Amino acid sequence: MKIVYSDKHAGHDPQTFIVRGVKQRSAEQPERATRLLTAATGAGHAILPPRAFGPGPAASVHTPEYIDFLQTAAREWAKLPGASDEVVPNMHPARAHASYPKALAGRAGWHQADMACPIGPRTWDAALASSEVAVTAAEFVIEGAREVYALCRPPGHHASADMAGGFCFLNNTAIAAQRLRGTHARVAVLDVDVHHGNGTQAIFYERDDVLTISMHADPAHYYPYFWGNASELGAGKGQGFNLNLPLALGSSDEPWLKAGDTALARIKAFVPTALVVALGLDASESDPLQGLKVSGAGFHAMARKIASLGLPTVLVQEGGYLSDDLGRNLVQFLAGFEKGRAN
Ligand SMILES: [Zn+2]
Repeated sequence: MKIVYSDKHAGHDPQTFIVRGVKQRSAEQPERATRLLTAATGAGHAILPPRAFGPGPAASVHTPEYIDFLQTAAREWAKLPGASDEVVPNMHPARAHASYPKALAGRAGWHQADMACPIGPRTWDAALASSEVAVTAAEFVIEGAREVYALCRPPGHHASADMAGGFCFLNNTAIAAQRLRGTHARVAVLDVDVHHGNGTQAIFYERDDVLTISMHADPAHYYPYFWGNASELGAGKGQGFNLNLPLALGSSDEPWLKAGDTALARIKAFVPTALVVALGLDASESDPLQGLKVSGAGFHAMARKIASLGLPTVLVQEGGYLSDDLGRNLVQFLAGFEKGRAN
C-alpha cells in the first residue's frame, strides 16, 4: 500500500500537558510517528513524501482567523514578557454572546479548547505538513489508487472549524474528505479512534453530502466528554447524517466489531463513492490510554470488513500512543485491509 509521510511532524513536540491538575509529558510524542513508519517500512509498504499544497486545503474546513492564529501565535507569544515556550491559554470562554478578542491571550483561549494542544514554535509547520500528507493521499485516490494510508502527525479529528483540542490542530480527516468531495458527490467518514471524532462531527454536522460515523469509548466517562453521544444525529440538512456508536469503557473485540457492522450498514445505505477512515489505533488493549481493549486480530478483522465495501479509501492516522503493539497494530490493520480487498 502507498504510504504518505513527512518528517516535519518532529518539529512539534508538545511539552505541556495537564492531567488531573498535574503537569506531565504529552502522550502525543514524535516517536509515535517514527514507530509507525518503522513498522510500515518493515512490512514492505512504499513510503512517499507529501506534495506542497500550502494552507488552501485546510482553509476549506477551517476559518481564516483560526488559520491565522495557528500560523502566528507562537511568534507573537514569544514577544510577551515572561511567556513560556508554548502557547497555552489560561482561560476558555463560554462563547455565547462573546466577541472575538484582539489580544493573543484571549485568542488562545478562543481557539484552544483544552490543555492538550500547546502551540510551539514549529507546531504550525508540523500541522500544515500533516494536512499535506492527508491531501496527498486523497489526491492519489482521486487519481485512481484504491487505498492510501496518510501517516499524519499531529492528529486532527478533535479540531473543529476554529478550535484546536486533544492533540489536534488541523483536521486532516475532514480536509481529506473535503478534498474527495471535489470529485465524489458523497463521501463517508468512519472514525475508529477510541475517542469520539468531535471536530469532524462539528465540521460536517449540518451537511448531507458527508456522512460522519464515530465509534468510541462512551463520552460519559471519557474524552471529549461534551460530544459523542448517540443522540447527536446532525442538524438542518445534515439531520440523520451523523452516527455515534459509543461503547462501554473496556469493551473488547466483539462489541467493537459489532459496532463496525452497524457503521458499515449505515455507510452502504448512504451509497458514497469514497471513504475516509480516521484510523486511531488507541482502541488497542495495549494503549496507555486504556479506553477500549481491541486486540491486533480485532484491528485486522475491522480492516477486512471496511475494505470489503470496495470504496476508494483514504486511511488517515489519528491517535494511538506508545506501546509495544503500536506498530504491530498498524501492520495488522494494513494487512487486513489488503486481504479484504482481495476477497
Ligand atoms: Zn484518540
